[in-house]
Amino acid sequence: MPDSPGRHRVVIVGAGFAGYNAVRQLSKLAGASIEITVINSTDYFLYLPLLPQVGAGLVEPRHICVSLLSRMPNVRFVLGTVTDVDARQKVVTWASPEGGSGQAGYDRIILTAGSVNKLLPIPGVADHAHGFRSIAEAIYLRDHITRQLELAAGAADEAERRARCTFVVVGAGYTGTEVAAQGQLLTTRLAKRMPGLAGQQIRWMLLDTAPRLLPELHEHLSKTAGRVLRRRGVEVRTGQSVATALDGCWVQLSTGEKVATHSLIWCVGVRADPLVSGLDLDTDRGRLVVDEFMAVPSAPDIYACGDCAAVPDLTRPGEICGMTAQHAQRQGKQVARNVAASLGAGKAKPYKHHDLGFLVDLGGLAAAANPLKIPLSGLPANVVTRAYHLIAMAGNRARVLAEWGLNVIVPAEVTSFGVIGPGSVPLDPDQPRSLPGIASAAPHRCAPRTGRRTAVDHGVFRSTRIVSGLCQAPEVEREVTAMPDSDTSAVPPILLPRCRPRSPSPRHAPTAGSATTSRPSTTRSCCSSITKSACWPAPGTPPAPPN
Ligand SMILES: Cc1cc2nc3c(=O)[nH]c(=O)nc-3n(C[C@H](O)[C@H](O)[C@H](O)COP(=O)(O)OP(=O)(O)OC[C@H]3O[C@@H](n4cnc5c(N)ncnc54)[C@H](O)[C@@H]3O)c2cc1C
Repeated sequence: MPDSPGRHRVVIVGAGFAGYNAVRQLSKLAGASIEITVINSTDYFLYLPLLPQVGAGLVEPRHICVSLLSRMPNVRFVLGTVTDVDARQKVVTWASPEGGSGQAGYDRIILTAGSVNKLLPIPGVADHAHGFRSIAEAIYLRDHITRQLELAAGAADEAERRARCTFVVVGAGYTGTEVAAQGQLLTTRLAKRMPGLAGQQIRWMLLDTAPRLLPELHEHLSKTAGRVLRRRGVEVRTGQSVATALDGCWVQLSTGEKVATHSLIWCVGVRADPLVSGLDLDTDRGRLVVDEFMAVPSAPDIYACGDCAAVPDLTRPGEICGMTAQHAQRQGKQVARNVAASLGAGKAKPYKHHDLGFLVDLGGLAAAANPLKIPLSGLPANVVTRAYHLIAMAGNRARVLAEWGLNVIVPAEVTSFGVIGPGSVPLDPDQPRSLPGIASAAPHRCAPRTGRRTAVDHGVFRSTRIVSGLCQAPEVEREVTAMPDSDTSAVPPILLPRCRPRSPSPRHAPTAGSATTSRPSTTRSCCSSITKSACWPAPGTPPAPPN
């Protein structure tokens, strides 16, 4: 990439709340004296607080994204993921989305790579749970919920219907609480138009090991949210969590209770982007150590803020700032001023911000809020919450406002496109991402199970050769499955695990003429849709709980 001689080069990694605001502030301050390069993994800035509304089908995904190219004139934009920062040579390296890589030199670099889903070492969770932090995950969840109800409505087996109508959300922070609140309203709305679900209980569970909902927020918010959710029938379970997730059909809670479900939604929190741990720099709770000016003490040309940095909270001595948009966007603006000051323009200032309160949208007209420490609930909280979002969004306000208005008059149309398969939204950010619907083969993982549903149910990859693979867990067998009408030469195989044990059932045996060449029918699929409903035995027989 060419550099402009005589100009200071500032590279900003990440264009979320912190990076986006840093770029815009620096562009204002810099004039022609600074050459700004922004490197971001996507070409948009995502307004995360409205993601639960995307998951609930209330707001279109593109309406909470704003184009970086159109909002950042006079800035060099690179679509790529930064893989390395060489602090000695002052060079940043990135990987392009379609292969290849690039490098650029810098005089100052600002790291604002944000955070990723936090995994806990709970058996099965990495394979069977899905997070909620990206557009892809929100679209996937909306489709998944819709599909579960559609499949439940057509299922003859009561146990299968019950499992498909059970949704388990782990983590009752603001993300988990909003996801459960919006999800419950979505399923209620969907179930009303499905005669096959008449009288069927739709069960939502919200679990957290903490003694109350929204443990990191004010008690007023916690009480309001708890009241609203319980009134709607959501099972709020505090002081407990998931102990095991088994083959995508069962979870076992820390209380020992076994719950049949196909939907494990993981909202236990976030950790700094893996870029941070790969740098040879100090971290605090996984976040990059910076001083109150947001400069890295051991590398003065490197600045960092937002979720990926441990910015000291000067309003609470000894603490670091929380991972919130409120902090990230203000830190972004301030870090830009401090970087400009380090290059001779203006004066650096330490970052200090008093919490302005928090807003939790509970769907419908319900919300909980404490703006400027004023406790609000119900309609007033809802109005304040929505007004705040409209002000805080970087664009598309009119579109979102119009959608909210239209939703009041006509219910939003919810359909499941199924173009984002579960293999494309792995919970583990280090797991390789694959094409929608195609899950990559990973040892010890049942992740490939997930690719099948998309391929079969939605007619995607019709000409794909599907080979069920060896999931290296001992109870999993290998068998070969091919799709009807498949052209088996053109594309690489998809690996599909099949899990035991399951008592033989006529419903699960391959039918004559099907292209499935399977092992004996003592094998069952982890929720396969190829040998449909393979998790479920014949009607009337409840599925066997895990041992
Ligand atoms: C569902 C949800 C709801 C939330 N609601 C609220 C709320 O109501 N109020 C609130 O205050 N906070 C809320 N938050 C938290 C808030 O969104 C985050 O604290 C905030 O986004 C952090 O900003 P950031 O700039 O550090 O990271 P992000 O906004 O996540 O931005 C990081 C950017 O860096 C890019 N990136 C990552 N790695 C790389 C790399 N290696 N190379 C290049 N680019 C990279 C990403 O693509 C992204 O664009 C919510 C979070 C979630 C998930």
